[in-house]
Amino acid sequence: MAKLVILGTASFIPDETHDNAHMAVYGPSGSVLIDSGINPLVSLKRAKVPFESLLAIIVTHFHPDHVSGLPNFLMGLWLMGRKTNLNIYGFRVTLDKVQALMSLFEWKDWPGFYPVAFEPVRPAENALIIETPDFRIHSSPTHHLVPSLALKFTSQANGHSIVYSSDTSPCDALAHLAQEADVLVHEVAGAASGHSSPAMAGSIARQAGVGHLVLIHYHTKDNPDDLIAEAQSTFSGKISLAHDQDVFEF
Ligand SMILES: [Zn+2]
Ligand SMILES: [Zn+2]
Repeated sequence: MAKLVILGTASFIPDETHDNAHMAVYGPSGSVLIDSGINPLVSLKRAKVPFESLLAIIVTHFHPDHVSGLPNFLMGLWLMGRKTNLNIYGFRVTLDKVQALMSLFEWKDWPGFYPVAFEPVRPAENALIIETPDFRIHSSPTHHLVPSLALKFTSQANGHSIVYSSDTSPCDALAHLAQEADVLVHEVAGAASGHSSPAMAGSIARQAGVGHLVLIHYHTKDNPDDLIAEAQSTFSGKISLAHDQDVFEF
């Protein structure tokens, strides 16, 4: 059985109960972290996802609310004694910036650091990134202020799938990736360039024919009822607001 745990739900500004949007997908054979909140050492521990199970990190795009916790997290894994390889996936331009960020900390000089492999993701629709005995992860490029990717998690056991938009304005590539998905976890930071409003998220959910729309990457001061009501104006299926530590089995 594969599970997705929502580790953070806030857009740019986190608060006491909403970390920046990030999540993990996991099963008995290992886990994959998607982006980074304030520090995933805390959010993963709260979710009881063991650090030893971490196979890879996928970085959807290089914006502070998605990557700034990474240096602390990578350092923490090292100080806790990690020895096993860790793969980091993202578009090449994203990985170049992550490496530049880490080089400011001179991490190559940290003794006994575990091996890290940077694996560029093809900027193509439905590109396979990772396959484990529990799930497959595919990605498609989306429309954001910097190159960004959406992700599809598919259960190996039953074919059920969850799609995560990451940051994007409405685009066909996302609607294609989310086609017939059981759950679409979609950002609702607003209608500003490179982002989506709840009504826009609802339109993508309707276009893709998903079963359940979950709103994430919202402003914590927004009224949840207003967000859901706006999404209901364009999507008649099940809609809910993501909360930190929500778990979806698929
Ligand atoms: Zn962004
Ligand atoms: Zn963001």
